[in-house]
Formats: sequence, structure tokens, C-alpha cells
Amino acid sequence: MVPDLFAPVVAWRTWEVAETKDGWRLLSVHMRDTWPVGEPLVAACHRDRFLAGASDPHACPTFDCHCGIHGVSHPEGARQYFVASWADVEYGMIALTDDYVPRAVGRVNLWGRVMVHSDGFRASLAYPQHLFLPAKRPDGGEFGAECASMGLLDYGVPVEMIDAYTRDEMLAALPAA
Ligand SMILES: [Zn+2]
Repeated sequence: MVPDLFAPVVAWRTWEVAETKDGWRLLSVHMRDTWPVGEPLVAACHRDRFLAGASDPHACPTFDCHCGIHGVSHPEGARQYFVASWADVEYGMIALTDDYVPRAVGRVNLWGRVMVHSDGFRASLAYPQHLFLPAKRPDGGEFGAECASMGLLDYGVPVEMIDAYTRDEMLAALPAA
């Protein structure tokens, strides 16, 4: 049995940040789900996206599927995704265009059906709790992070700009818990 948790657990994760027709929004890094404003993101199984005629929809998360909204219990886990995106920029995998926007890293509330893993959680419901964005581009230039951080205030949670120049500065500036 997967217990229903009504008090959220707090975890860490990394998000894509993008300007949509509704304003600046958080997107899941892998599944590209747009996180709604003012209501929780509800987990859905994405197997159907990859397998035509996949099994019947099931409640998320379950033991035998990787679906559910992921969060890691230690910021180091979220940092990996953040560092990966930053490294992609540094090594030219992502073009550092004028409209480049960094990923956000932060804390997330997870509740509903919650599965506990050794390094984090998978949940059926999630909402951001506290967001951090680097204020400078990896090349030291100015970029649209200020617009993004202002836009992310739509979520009604704290959005902090980290005055970081390198990814190490960014990661060192994150609170430990
Ligand atoms: Zn699934």
C-alpha cells in the first residue's frame, strides 16, 4: 500500500523555466509538464507517450512504474540536474542566446500518494515552495533571469536571485536544507 500523506514532505528539484502564453512558468525537466499556478501539479503516467497501446492508466506513483512527481531529499540531488544544464551551456551543447533562461532549483511540497526512496520521493501532487535562479549568465553577461524571476512570482512563493557568476557559486549559495 502507498500511504496517503496530507502533510506535504519538502524535497528539492530542478525546473526548466520558460515564457508561455500564460506567462513565466516552471516545466518538468524530462516530461516538459507545465506546472500550474495556484493549484497542484497532478501526476500522470507518461508511459502512453512512449508506448502505443500501453497498459491502462494507473494511479501514480506505483512501485512498478517510474511515474509520479519526483523530488530529492538533499539539494545535492537537484544540483546534479542544475549542473548538467549549466555544463551543457559551458560546453556549447546549448546555445547561449540572448533569450537564454537558466533552470531554477528549489524546494517543492509533495503530498497525496507519496513513495519514499533512498534519495527522495515520488508523489501524486506537488507545488513549488521556494525557488532560486542564478542572476548572471554562465558567460558573465546580463540575461533575462530578472524577467523570469518576476514572472515566477505568479506562483505566490519566494523567488530568490542568486548573485552567482559560476555554477559553483550558484550551488554554494543554496541553503543546505
Ligand atoms: Zn506509470
